[in-house]
Amino acid sequence: AAKEQGKGAFHFFTSELQRVASERLALEQQLRQAIERAELYFHFQPQVRAADSRLVGIEALLRWGRDETSVSPARFIPVLEETGLITRVTEQALREACTALKALEVRGLADLRVAINLSARQLKQPDLLGQIQSVLTTYEVRAKQLEVEITESTLLDDAQCQTNAAQLSTHGVRLAIDDFGTGYSSLTYLKRFDVDALKIDRSFIADLLLDEDDAQIVGAVIGLAQGLGIDSVAEGVEDLAQRARLESLGCDLIQGYLIARPMSLDELLTWTGNGGSPDKSDVMARDQG
Ligand code: C2E
Ligand code: MG
Ligand code: MG
Ligand code: MG
Repeated sequence: AAKEQGKGAFHFFTSELQRVASERLALEQQLRQAIERAELYFHFQPQVRAADSRLVGIEALLRWGRDETSVSPARFIPVLEETGLITRVTEQALREACTALKALEVRGLADLRVAINLSARQLKQPDLLGQIQSVLTTYEVRAKQLEVEITESTLLDDAQCQTNAAQLSTHGVRLAIDDFGTGYSSLTYLKRFDVDALKIDRSFIADLLLDEDDAQIVGAVIGLAQGLGIDSVAEGVEDLAQRARLESLGCDLIQGYLIARPMSLDELLTWTGNGGSPDKSDVMARDQG
């Protein structure tokens, strides 16, 4: 009986594996098609100064599908990375980021910056600096207005990643460490690279008021950033209590649903036009009329 059962389990296991593999293949084919048809696009999430809510920059986040939630980046970005398709996204990220920055500038919001996320594969691209410089030149965006977000593990990945990261920062592009505190957490790269910002991972912010350990960790990271003279950024700030706590801990910058969700460029322009609120257009019209 045990043998029978084992055999059944084996059959179940292989068919389950087959299902996962074919789903993965289907997703890959859909993604290739989406890239050919230019169906990947970016949304932008504001980053504000904690002290006075002043907009300082935006982060470009990759999207696929009709709305914010259709296909989660957590599901399709790993496939883009495994297949190498992600390198085809880098140039698009740069162009859309620069386009957004210029659109904000035209509306009087100068000196903002835009962040793009780079995976190890993207950071490893040969002549990444040349590619970035050429897009910046085309759009007349200064290097210091661009920030690249890389995770701790990406930065330690290999020599090419490190060379590219060092080159970028030498040429004035800002480096931010994304999901700070969740990677290898070797702090040596803070000595070796000219890092400009630490983005405290959302998981620490989520439990900031519930767990004293998280509060201690967040406080320590903010202190570390202050000591190094760089920015601390809190990711995933969702409520006022978290924000108040972050402010009292001395956090520089805040990003999260409390401020705004990631949105299309059009929505972002409306949002900034409304002074950073989603839907005050009727109030504004009344005030002006
Ligand atoms: P990330 O760079 O750490 O981005 C922050 C994620 O948190 C985003 O998820 C954002 O939508 C989400 N988020 C922001 N505020 C809040 C909040 O208040 N609450 C909650 N619950 N979530 C919040 P998203 O867009 O799903 O992206 C997931 C990850 O995918 C990103 O994490 C980044 O690592 C990666 N990613 C996104 N776009 C790109 C890209 O263009 N290239 C690469 N290589 N990776 C990307
Ligand atoms: Mg990021
Ligand atoms: Mg620098
Ligand atoms: Mg993050």
